[in-house]
Amino acid sequence: MKTRLIYLILIVSLLFTSCGKQSQATSTPTLPPPQSQVMNTTEETLPEPTSTPTPEPTQENYSQYHFDVVFDYAQHTLQVSQQIVFLNKSDFPLSEILLLIPPRSFPGVYTQTSLQGDLIAASSEDGIKTIITLSQPLAAQQSLTINLSYSLNLPKREGTLGFTDRQTNLSNWYPYIPPRDQSGNWLAHEPFIDASNMVVGEYIVNEIADFTVNFQLIGNTPNLQIATGARPIPMENGTRYELPKARAIAFSISNQYHLEEIQHNNYLIQAYVFSNQKQNASAITRIATQAMDLFSELFGEYPRERVVIVSADFLHNMEMDGMVLLSNKIIDFYDGTPLNNLTILIPHELSHQWFYSLVGNDQALEPWLDESIATYSESLFYERYHPEYLQWWWDNRVFAHEHNGYVNNSIYEAGSYENYRASVYLNGAIFMQDLSENLGKENFLSALRHYVENNQYGVATQKEFFDALFQANPIDLNHLLLKYFRQ
Ligand SMILES: [Zn+2]
Repeated sequence: MKTRLIYLILIVSLLFTSCGKQSQATSTPTLPPPQSQVMNTTEETLPEPTSTPTPEPTQENYSQYHFDVVFDYAQHTLQVSQQIVFLNKSDFPLSEILLLIPPRSFPGVYTQTSLQGDLIAASSEDGIKTIITLSQPLAAQQSLTINLSYSLNLPKREGTLGFTDRQTNLSNWYPYIPPRDQSGNWLAHEPFIDASNMVVGEYIVNEIADFTVNFQLIGNTPNLQIATGARPIPMENGTRYELPKARAIAFSISNQYHLEEIQHNNYLIQAYVFSNQKQNASAITRIATQAMDLFSELFGEYPRERVVIVSADFLHNMEMDGMVLLSNKIIDFYDGTPLNNLTILIPHELSHQWFYSLVGNDQALEPWLDESIATYSESLFYERYHPEYLQWWWDNRVFAHEHNGYVNNSIYEAGSYENYRASVYLNGAIFMQDLSENLGKENFLSALRHYVENNQYGVATQKEFFDALFQANPIDLNHLLLKYFRQ
């Protein structure tokens, strides 16, 4: 009874959240006032990335992002030359290109010194957006090149972009071009912060692209280790990182990491924990191995050569492509049993390698497409490996909290982080279970697998999700939509 009470206390703590609860206590993102200025011929203080050849196009042809980064860990600064070879994968000619620059949501962090490209006639800034007017339209399936130079003066904050005393995280740190929907509209949104200063969910939608980063460390900080889902290739003065066919490229850097890794099947599983957490590193790789095995079996083979779990110096969790950041407190509080957050949340975050990385979705407008499935995937993990605790999972993860509201809430409609979690995550898991019972378990799992197969490397919507369900078992699901969805 006493141990059960301890679990319950743990469960109601802040740590029982996943992917998206961020406190803004240290630095609230505020958007700079809209301004409009032509800035295609500003001065250059950084070398253009001509020192490296333009990356070879991959067979499938995606946009390519190449970076030359010089990073000073102690000074928390990056000097970046970036080249985007943007491929217009839509069916529409584009007379404007939208560039989104997430670090601009933090005042004083991003300073651009150059924006150039053959077809750029003019550009203007509006918050985190830069709108580039082209001198001639970019036809479908044609590409253009944009070169940028900028510096980042990282914010001191606990989060996915910023630094603390023992870690620097680089996520959504560079300008990118968002995908377009089927009508040709840019999938470009703004972050949403609720009344209690919590960031609700995620707002960034990425198209698949090929990434290469030449990463050079300067300064005198010894023992720095760089965690990333990308493949490292040693170079003369630094490391080249390659991450083909990915949503985004992210790094987590510290001089206090302890690394434990295992080769499993055809990929590497890495756990970067802080040195005082060494004793729990093998639990992370063990749970991760189980989760990767299960999801590869259910949703399709994992396509990358590594998956990296990093102890995050903050109180939430976040998925990235090939990497997840897991709150350090969850690792600290691991008690060696399956009845704890480490066992719940590693499967959650790793399932995002299928539902977010492989199959993209609009995380701002349809966050349930990744979060409801990721939460439900936790139950699949317990069902497979700890069936005696499956009911415990439902009771403590879902029913012990508010678990109501529209599953298809956007990050703006939920109103608050608490309501967002209650509806999209928890009621979302109940919705998935209801779908499974209505369609039949085998049909439902086969639908999820086909949903991944048919939409991998794309950006899916609810239409594709329900198409996959209908394909698996063509029954009428309207009563469930009435029950769970905002109409
Ligand atoms: Zn999640």
